[in-house]
Amino acid sequence: MRIELVQGDITTRAVDVIVNAANSSLLGGGGVDGAIHRAAGPELLAACRELRRTDLPDGLPVGAAVATPGFRLPARWVIHTVGPNRHAGQTDPALLASCFRESLELAESLGAQSVAFPAVSAGVYGWDAREVAETAFDAVTTFAASFEESGEDTAVDLVEFVLFSSEMVDVFRQVREGGPVWG
Ligand code: ADP
Repeated sequence: MRIELVQGDITTRAVDVIVNAANSSLLGGGGVDGAIHRAAGPELLAACRELRRTDLPDGLPVGAAVATPGFRLPARWVIHTVGPNRHAGQTDPALLASCFRESLELAESLGAQSVAFPAVSAGVYGWDAREVAETAFDAVTTFAASFEESGEDTAVDLVEFVLFSSEMVDVFRQVREGGPVWG
């Protein structure tokens, strides 16, 4: 499984799955969530409302993931996950790791070969970029290793971290290379 760092707008990625850093309501928000809803078109909000009406009347729990089509996006599916909100006292890294793991498991079950993640919880939800990067790499490599141990191949063979700012790319690069993060 390859892991690549990309600077840019995740809504432009022509991958099988883009992951949305959503909130529990699934009814849209700011940041990457707002950008994904704008690019996917109103059908995405309608699909999310339908999920709320049927499977998720109380919303999507923190650390969980659910899939919808990508509608007008180049990506085939959107996997919505809810990162922990540090400002609401959600400081357990296991919750953030769960976002990455559950999204990958769901992507795998869809047969997706390529998955793009944003820096979940590193925006409005207030997590430190380095902690997000460490958790993200750890979750992806653990996911890949669990398949290797079982002798199976993953459907997912490309994971992209698509990061809006060059500073965020630098943090992810430093974490991948195991070096210090400056600034
Ligand atoms: P959260 O509420 O989980 O913190 P945010 O959307 O506020 O989610 O921020 C998560 C990260 O996504 C931030 O680093 C933010 O800069 C980045 N981001 C915002 N828009 C986009 C986009 N279109 N593509 C990729 N990343 C984005």
